Amino acid sequence: MTQRPIIIQKYGGSSVATLEKLEAVAQRVVQKQSEGFGVVVVVSAMGNATDELLRRARQITPEPPARELDMLLSTGERTTMALLSIAIQKHGAMSISFTGSQSGIVTNDSHAHARIISVRPFRIQDELERGKIVIVAGFQGTSYKNEITTLGRGGSDMTAIALAGALSAQACEIYSDVDGVYSADPKVVLSAQKLEQLSSAEMLEMAQHGAKVLHDEAISYAHRHQIALYAKKSHDPASTGTFIRPDGWPDYALQQAELRPLAIVTAKKTMYVSLDVPSPASWLGTLQKTDGIKLMDMSLSHSHAEALLDIWNCTDEDALRAALGNGASGILRADVKNVTAVGHDLGRFPAIPAKYQALLAEKNITPLAMFIQPNAVTFVVRDVDVAAASDALHACIKN
Ligand code: ASP
Ligand code: MG
Repeated sequence: MTQRPIIIQKYGGSSVATLEKLEAVAQRVVQKQSEGFGVVVVVSAMGNATDELLRRARQITPEPPARELDMLLSTGERTTMALLSIAIQKHGAMSISFTGSQSGIVTNDSHAHARIISVRPFRIQDELERGKIVIVAGFQGTSYKNEITTLGRGGSDMTAIALAGALSAQACEIYSDVDGVYSADPKVVLSAQKLEQLSSAEMLEMAQHGAKVLHDEAISYAHRHQIALYAKKSHDPASTGTFIRPDGWPDYALQQAELRPLAIVTAKKTMYVSLDVPSPASWLGTLQKTDGIKLMDMSLSHSHAEALLDIWNCTDEDALRAALGNGASGILRADVKNVTAVGHDLGRFPAIPAKYQALLAEKNITPLAMFIQPNAVTFVVRDVDVAAASDALHACIKN
């Protein structure tokens, strides 16, 4: 049999929140197969099932053991995979559901945020050859010690993209309740526009500064492995979504007379740190040992540390404060956020950050700090100033 091109479709929690939605997904998937594709479907837990499972565990004890939490949370996706396979077979097509472990997703042993170390999708390949639609439970794998692990919140994107790489899929389509990637959060900036396409390098920069459309590590993987990605809205045939091209920064950015941002992004939960630290090296060591945080920006001098952390995955903010502030004096604030202009070379010419700062000053916004990277200019502002600051910088996209 000649091999059919493979398409990976990933459906997020909101896309499979009810049985009706699940049945609609089943029809879509069967349709895709009839167009001549080998179809692998990666599913998330239905609706907010993951939060619900977490809540139940924490009702028993505030800090449930990580191994048992992984056993528990992995059931969310397993429920969806089996129900979807049942729905597909009702439509007369052949399908089979697999857990992460059956799909050959091998991870390290770090429970709750395991990293994929290899993908050996032999069983998926066999079943595709038999003409079956393969359904995979997202967000989970098995460690080399044969323990069930999960990949961190939102980790089903990672499953989909890792499988796209391992199966040399033609494309990976990520379905959610948003229509694609926007130039800013449309709930914050009313003139935000959907981007028809962008490069994976651009998407990565946006994700690292907090754009939550797609999981940041998944984007990084897609970028490194040159995987073509589509972010689309489920249950909306008219949605053209956003195409994320598997390449670096595009030439058009260089051809512009004036450098402009591509998008303005803000992370959902951040902590700004400005501390006098007796030993920057040991402070870095503390940071390294702190679970559930990501470093967005940092500068470290002989006695001072300044950083902006993405704390979306941090479950215990008080513990984080205690750890970071230990032996140091200064500021730890969680009532602030980044407003980041992402765009090629924006941070390479001082005139650009200077212009942005002037625009904020016109709105009486005084940022607490500013971080400049080659392709991103970040202002740390108080929560109450996020909308006005985003609006001011978003205006630079067009003129
Ligand atoms: N169900 C998991 C979560 O809610 C994983 C995912 O949705 O990708 O985080
Ligand atoms: Mg979910």
